[in-house]
Amino acid sequence: MTFRRVLLTLAAAAFAAASAFAAAGAGRDDGVTLHGDRQQGGLMIGRTDPQAVVTFGDRRLRVSPEGWFVFGFDRDAKPAATLRIKRPGHAESTERIQVDKRDWEIQRINGLPPSKVNPPPEVAARIDREYREIQAAHSQDLDRADFMEPLQWPVKGTVSGVFGSQRILNGTPKQPHYGVDVAVPVGTQVHAPAGGIVTLAERDLYFTGGTLIIDHGHGLSSILVHLSKIEVKVGDEVKQGQVVAESGMTGRATGPHLHWGVYWFDTHIDPQSAMAVTAER
Ligand SMILES: [Zn+2]
Repeated sequence: MTFRRVLLTLAAAAFAAASAFAAAGAGRDDGVTLHGDRQQGGLMIGRTDPQAVVTFGDRRLRVSPEGWFVFGFDRDAKPAATLRIKRPGHAESTERIQVDKRDWEIQRINGLPPSKVNPPPEVAARIDREYREIQAAHSQDLDRADFMEPLQWPVKGTVSGVFGSQRILNGTPKQPHYGVDVAVPVGTQVHAPAGGIVTLAERDLYFTGGTLIIDHGHGLSSILVHLSKIEVKVGDEVKQGQVVAESGMTGRATGPHLHWGVYWFDTHIDPQSAMAVTAER
């Protein structure tokens, strides 16, 4: 993947923004740092005064006692985003972040029987209920910063599906692939990518089968999908690397693999970006 490391200092005062950005690194020190992956699906981590009010778009971000905050860009994020930081005793700084567009893999398959393209109508209510259950887990904003540990692969194996790709079946675009697939045999031990709290543990969801969500704090969470066995329950605190499940091919999986998705609230993050960004300090 193309991954650009960016580390810069935010403008101390809005009125000086234009000249200050040009002079970034020329001796100014407003104590704000930001690094990450400024493209669709990318994760960003920043640090500022723990007392600061940090706003990304319309969302106020949780700032840890050490001043850390996190946010990210969805697969289809618009080209510009705004981060605002108001530190006590300072003017608010505003940064417009340019979000680079990525090219996604698109696969068109035609001539499929309709039953392979759309789920039968009688499962619509179930799908809707399960979707809302997953959304509720992703909407939490826990006061913990496990995302400060470099995220690790939950299993080791060949990557068989990448983030952002999309299938168009019989002309109907399906939901993009919001995660990475790793081809591993059924029963492979699945490890927590980072520490956190289990916020969802379901054995049989329609699309995702055995499904686990681990919340790493500040809205960042991992979803582990198509599991054959789940070893933890909702509310459990897990450590990074802990065995939490066994992989499988439950739900609508075409073969044995682990699907790992990373979310910032309901924003879909590329797990490979999240790993790269959380590994940088
Ligand atoms: Zn997948």
